[in-house]
Amino acid sequence: MRRLANFVVAALLFAAGAFAADRTVVVVLFDGFSPFMLAGVATPNFDRLAREGASSRHLVPSFPTLSMVNHTTFETGCWPADHGIVANEFRDPVQGLYDTKADRADAAWRTGCESMWQTAERQGAPAAVFNFVGRWSSKTGKQASVINPEGPWKDHEDDDTILAKTAAALADPHIRLIALYFDYPDSVAHGDGVHGDKTKDAVVKADAVVGRLRTMIEALPNGRQVDLVIGADHGMTAVSKVINIGRLKTLHHFDAEVAYGSGSAMLYLKPGSDAARVARALKRYHATFEVYRKGHFPAYVHIGAGPRVGDLLLITRPPYAFEGPELMKPEIAARAENISGPPIYQPQVTWFNAMHGYKPDVTAMHAIFYAWGPGIAHRPIKRLEMIDVAPTVLHLLGLKPDNRSGGKVLDLGR
Ligand SMILES: [Zn+2]
Repeated sequence: MRRLANFVVAALLFAAGAFAADRTVVVVLFDGFSPFMLAGVATPNFDRLAREGASSRHLVPSFPTLSMVNHTTFETGCWPADHGIVANEFRDPVQGLYDTKADRADAAWRTGCESMWQTAERQGAPAAVFNFVGRWSSKTGKQASVINPEGPWKDHEDDDTILAKTAAALADPHIRLIALYFDYPDSVAHGDGVHGDKTKDAVVKADAVVGRLRTMIEALPNGRQVDLVIGADHGMTAVSKVINIGRLKTLHHFDAEVAYGSGSAMLYLKPGSDAARVARALKRYHATFEVYRKGHFPAYVHIGAGPRVGDLLLITRPPYAFEGPELMKPEIAARAENISGPPIYQPQVTWFNAMHGYKPDVTAMHAIFYAWGPGIAHRPIKRLEMIDVAPTVLHLLGLKPDNRSGGKVLDLGR
């Protein structure tokens, strides 16, 4: 009986594989797109994907729910502990500081795991990758058959350019995986808020991109099987108060380099510091934020305890955010360790309205997810993890995921 069951499963997998060998998947990552942003905005193209395909309002990012961490989790299907991008800012003992000045698009910062396009290429399925971090490496060159120019993450080509390149890639039947990244709504929502007019405009713009992609796919010759998979790296939520770690340093007499991540922060204590004492001192703020020592993080924190991870991890919740001196009044920020001013305050700046980086069970951190195309059934998906996306895309292509991925393959099939 068991042998027969195995035979049936093998036959089904073979059939799925044979079908998938002709299939192309277009993967799109928007930045900072919470399903709450869809409220009150006309999005006919997203609506159609939801009506005809699989969709979810709960694509759950890995912690910390920040961009670089989750672009990499989305691409690789691995937890941050395995791919090495443990925060938007961190210190590597050999490579130095990974921050806004470092070239965060460079895949050479990763410590392990393949991106979905590396896995696809390795198994003989060429890929085209536009504007995504990790499409090139300063050590090993381009990571897919077709990429747009190597450059800093923020300095990317505009939508029309990468959509024209997508059309060209779709016209080439050898290209099996096409991946595109768009930096909005995040780029405007931090200042404009989750429901601001500029954020709404960005959602409309994203919907138009989806419409253009669908039109391109539908214009292909009969017999081309193209699926569209769309996600975002994290959501966004309203904030109003800043936790000034500089002030906490002077109040509680410790010295540390701080990696700010809005909803969380890592402290690299000065060598010789008493981490237990600092943790005890900061625990008096338990009503505002939690403090964890390296090696004692909660189960949902998959950043490991490697050399890139700080000695202390602080985690807060909305409306609080850990932010750097740029938010402080100049007379406070100018003083090296912010020796005056309250440790928790409301900044008077226009661009501090919405943030992310919080723990993954904060629903506002969850992102949109859609999958649509000939291989995909209409199905609401209650919840999926960011690590599930890459294995699922590779499965749609009939390929095997990187075996370091902890993610599961979602059943999207008809
Ligand atoms: Zn982001």
